[in-house]
Amino acid sequence: MSVLRIVFRRSKNVQNIVKQHSACMSSAPQPVREPEIKHAQIFINNKFVDSVSGKRFPSISPVTEEVICEIAEGDKADVDLAVKAARDAFRLGSPWRRMDASERGNLMYKLADLMERDAVYLASLETLDNGKPFQVAYAADIPLSIKCLRYYAGYANKNHGKTIPVDGNFFTYTRHEPIGVCGQIIPWNFPLLMQAWKLGPALSMGNTVVMKPAEQTSLTALYIAQLSEEAGFPPGVLNIVPGYGPTAGAAIAKHMDVDKVAFTGSTEIGQLIPQYAATSNLKGVTLELGGKSPNIIFADADMEQAVEQAHFALFFNHGQCCCAGSRTFVEDKVYDEFVERSIERAKKRTVGNPFDESVEQGPQVDSEQLGKIMNLIESGKKEGAKLGTGGVRHGDRGYFIEPTVFMDVKDNMRIAQEEIFGPVMSILKFKDLNEVVERANKSMYGLAAGVVTKDIDRALYVANSLRAGTVWVNCFNVFSAAAPFGGYKMSGNGRELGEYGLSAYTEVKNVTISIPQKNS
Ligand code: NAD
Ligand code: MN
Repeated sequence: MSVLRIVFRRSKNVQNIVKQHSACMSSAPQPVREPEIKHAQIFINNKFVDSVSGKRFPSISPVTEEVICEIAEGDKADVDLAVKAARDAFRLGSPWRRMDASERGNLMYKLADLMERDAVYLASLETLDNGKPFQVAYAADIPLSIKCLRYYAGYANKNHGKTIPVDGNFFTYTRHEPIGVCGQIIPWNFPLLMQAWKLGPALSMGNTVVMKPAEQTSLTALYIAQLSEEAGFPPGVLNIVPGYGPTAGAAIAKHMDVDKVAFTGSTEIGQLIPQYAATSNLKGVTLELGGKSPNIIFADADMEQAVEQAHFALFFNHGQCCCAGSRTFVEDKVYDEFVERSIERAKKRTVGNPFDESVEQGPQVDSEQLGKIMNLIESGKKEGAKLGTGGVRHGDRGYFIEPTVFMDVKDNMRIAQEEIFGPVMSILKFKDLNEVVERANKSMYGLAAGVVTKDIDRALYVANSLRAGTVWVNCFNVFSAAAPFGGYKMSGNGRELGEYGLSAYTEVKNVTISIPQKNS
């Protein structure tokens, strides 16, 4: 039995993820438990530099609560320098602008190859900084990031314009041009993957980038910066400014010389970004925000598969997924059995040091998240949801939380409405199809949804009726660089990934040429 089989023996879904994405990797190796921190400075013009202010901020280990290292703290002055570099790299006639599209793609393939070369180190660093199990980082985050870069590398010379039959004697064609300097603000739940989702389409289309990683998880982003230099990207094409949101992040979104901003994170901050854009230079905005995704289990489902799917839908990545299946709706006929088996499954979930092979769940990312989740757990207890298991911290060091299952959850409870972003499952009972569709849609969010049934008519009806950017039928958390991802309603604007993801990084130019007519 391979290492991965042992780790994931209880979870067919994770096994599938591993099978799906680790094709380019050989069997899982041992992690580097104390990976060397090679870069902790700001990356501008292919150079690592200190912040203008000289300030640094700590990166905290979610396992030990100790400082991993101090990182240069970017602020407005550093963002200004990064934007200058990105603007210069984008000037007409620059190496980046003159580069053949296919060559741009080649640089991206090279970057992906270097990530593959350093996969063990990168996965170890991700585990150290974020707290996710090494086995998951190695088998999912890293290969998914690599695949995303390769997918978009291929698009570099394939984003075709059109020729258009306008009235009159004209020849009209469109060019899909890069937008320019793109600001990108990313979260901490999938640091490398969110970086790849953002860099893939931006670089492929020929833009330049100023990126701010989340303050909790800057380390892998900075190592990728070094790999981009090694791959041969010209100076200024990719700049990375670590720092805090209200300072460095806001400076990007408000910048007069940033042409577009892409943000992934909370809906709360997502509401600020378009305001920053509107009151500065009206830059374009794409947003990938929170969710409260329904996962609907019908009575005809294979019970073992349904329990495992629902467990994985919620607990994957410690519940820190914007698309987490965090409202588990179960048909009344199988409700009791489903609840009982889900509690059993959650009790078996192994929590501990994310470097250990047998561990499925490490710590939450930081003390703020721990506090927020514990507060929501308390609200669930107070509002009368029944606690099946968990509901407490795991140990007293590190930001660990026991896998938690609430049953008899009602639609109006906070745990059924707010994004918890933690290992807390909320199970709700339903009676019939139309009722559950209506309740599932009654949310300010619309990121994703799941449905488990053997009835194809019902599956299609539900898939068509839910207002969500992704609907998974008899599966969950299935991601591909080729398939679009994004939200309806307050879960965001625009789509990432796939061909759809290109439009967020291209301006469409109409060129119309007069064709003089010869008298015959
Ligand atoms: P956040 O939205 O504050 O942070 C996301 C990113 O935005 C980080 O890089 C942060 O530095 C930056 N940021 C924060 N304030 C900013 C501002 N004023 N201007 C520009 N950038 C800013 O999220 P958080 O505080 O880390 O987590 C809070 C909640 O957000 C979580 O509990 C979870 O519900 C949700 N969340 C969602 C996602 C997602 O993938 N959609 C990811 C992380 C967190
Ligand atoms: Mn925040």
